Amino acid sequence: MKPFKVRLRFHGDLNLFLRSKACDAVIERPLAEKTSIKDVIESCGVPHPEVDLILVDDQLVGFDYTLANDTKADVFPVETRDTKRTEKRLQTISIVRFVADGHLGGLTRNLRLLGFDVAYPKNADDRELLEVMARENRALLTRDRRLLMHGFVQHGYWPRSQNADEQTIEVVRRFDLSKLVAPFTRCLRCNALLEETTKAEVIDKLEPLTNIYYDKFRRCPDCKQIYWSGSHFPKLQKRIEEILLRTQDKA
Ligand SMILES: [Zn+2]
Repeated sequence: MKPFKVRLRFHGDLNLFLRSKACDAVIERPLAEKTSIKDVIESCGVPHPEVDLILVDDQLVGFDYTLANDTKADVFPVETRDTKRTEKRLQTISIVRFVADGHLGGLTRNLRLLGFDVAYPKNADDRELLEVMARENRALLTRDRRLLMHGFVQHGYWPRSQNADEQTIEVVRRFDLSKLVAPFTRCLRCNALLEETTKAEVIDKLEPLTNIYYDKFRRCPDCKQIYWSGSHFPKLQKRIEEILLRTQDKA
């Protein structure tokens, strides 16, 4: 087979994944055998769950499209999604269940605080993370881009920031979660949905002052943690408000 070249142009923040930090960088890949567009894109460092649209010689294609001769390809991220053009989009936006890798504890806590279902299997290796993802139909959140490139991964996201609040804003935007926020409904420790409970039921577990000042309590049915709107509550509420306000800003 005659060697050929693919010229790829990466759009928007997909440039973050490239070695060259130029905007809308063009990368030329010489190939000697038929190769799927997905493999060529990932060979440039861009994980497939970050790719929402691919044009090969101005035609929309899927990940399995095979390249066999000189071509140009345009690769777009989810962020540039134009609501008028939804055909052949490769990513699903509306995902509400996640699994986070072991380095994203702050993000996990924040998302749970907002009421989202985030599995966070402690000390799980890559294989176990992928198993939870597939079995429970979750999107994978990880800053390990090699893991995100795993062929098993259908939906996932690579948080750009290393700051947990920024990551939370990114995830809420990426998966369009802002209308689904339900603060203080999920256990921050174990992810279970909280149940309303009465003071009488939890009174023997409360500190004396908590017993005096508070009347509304929720309890985790799994780990038995008790939640109430104590002195930490206004601070958490303010934090949630700030995060939600930021998710409405234009990026
Ligand atoms: Zn719990």
